[in-house]
Amino acid sequence: MPGRFTRLAAVALTAAALLSPTLPAAPAHAGPVAEKEWREVFSPDGTISRVLVPARKPAALSRELVQKAAAAEVIPLQETGPSAQRFDLVIIGDGYTAAQMGLLRQHAESKWAEVAAVEPFKKYKNSFNVWLVNVVSNQSGVDNDPYGTTRDTALDMTFYCAGTARLLCLDTAKAQAYAAAAPQVDVILALGNSTTYGGAGYSGISTASGGNAQSGQIAIHEFGHSIGGLADEYYTAGTTYPGGEPGEPNVTTSASGAKWASYIGRATPDGGVIGAYQGGSQYEYGIYRPSENSLMRVLGRPFNLVGLDVMDRAIAAKAGGTPPGPCDALGQRRTGTLASGATAYQPDGNWYYTGASGTHRGCLDGPDAANFDLYLEKWSGSAWGTVATAATIGGDETLTYSGTAGYYRYRIVAGSGSGPYTLGYDVP
Ligand SMILES: [Zn+2]
Repeated sequence: MPGRFTRLAAVALTAAALLSPTLPAAPAHAGPVAEKEWREVFSPDGTISRVLVPARKPAALSRELVQKAAAAEVIPLQETGPSAQRFDLVIIGDGYTAAQMGLLRQHAESKWAEVAAVEPFKKYKNSFNVWLVNVVSNQSGVDNDPYGTTRDTALDMTFYCAGTARLLCLDTAKAQAYAAAAPQVDVILALGNSTTYGGAGYSGISTASGGNAQSGQIAIHEFGHSIGGLADEYYTAGTTYPGGEPGEPNVTTSASGAKWASYIGRATPDGGVIGAYQGGSQYEYGIYRPSENSLMRVLGRPFNLVGLDVMDRAIAAKAGGTPPGPCDALGQRRTGTLASGATAYQPDGNWYYTGASGTHRGCLDGPDAANFDLYLEKWSGSAWGTVATAATIGGDETLTYSGTAGYYRYRIVAGSGSGPYTLGYDVP
């Protein structure tokens, strides 16, 4: 069955590499500029900048190649549900020979593990289908690895793209043809058979070195663009933003950060609190971002609270409104909605009784922008007393308590923020 592109977001062409060449003085806000295009370049410390490189026009595909691509073997690394209600990540490889399909699979699994370790992918791991397309190359490795070497490979991947050592480019038309062998295509991750750090980001396609443990961070940043529609939060020194209020949810011209007013002052996973920090979307002045150092600014860091919620909603919307939650593994489930400062008791405003000693497990899945806390209480015979507390920052909490027979209840408190929650719990 031929695949379809469903979510190719309108982000500018970008790309990434380790080296940090000299930037042009004034980066344009628009992407492609006649025969040239902007690409992201990553420095060894994770900082990101942009370079203008000559555009590479993909060659027209031969009928033979299209047929060969459509017939490529597809392996489901993870199939969690119908594609209409899932994000479909398609992983393809370049520079892997027929004898190296096992190595490609190993690289694909470790890259998915790297992505799925970062929120919100961790939380929504089961909202993704992950397909591996076994793209067979005639020769092993990619071009210019090391510099000056060439290989005959299926997707024409090459380092030293536009003269930048760690910029890993490929033929996007060929990549799309092979990815289309999967049942559905939402985003493509193309792995080069190399251990050299590097990668690139195109609209809907990220490249990364399959054998390098950190190169998946580039794909995570690119997913911020393609899934969440997030703007970059880094900037070029000395530049001033020339436009009106930008459409992206994580940059604003308002120095008070009114765009994300309900988040202001809250702790954010990338450190510090949400505010309005000067610089973003490539420009230093006249534009503000929600936090000092999120992964839209520096690789290897978490999304900030604003970006996290946007990603969360985008994935949940695609996942049919009922994304598998982190608390679903527990046997009992209750849902509710809390206003800021309010308290709820579960189950059902009541309590539960157990005649057994053993472990009570509670898990609260609340809004990421809120601070919800979870308490387990036990009846002493005359009053309720708290026996276990889960009160970290954020909307999600888990607790365990080893107790004797008796009456128990969960208390859920919205310390700040409001919204729906799910409580999962197990009774001994
Ligand atoms: Zn970016």
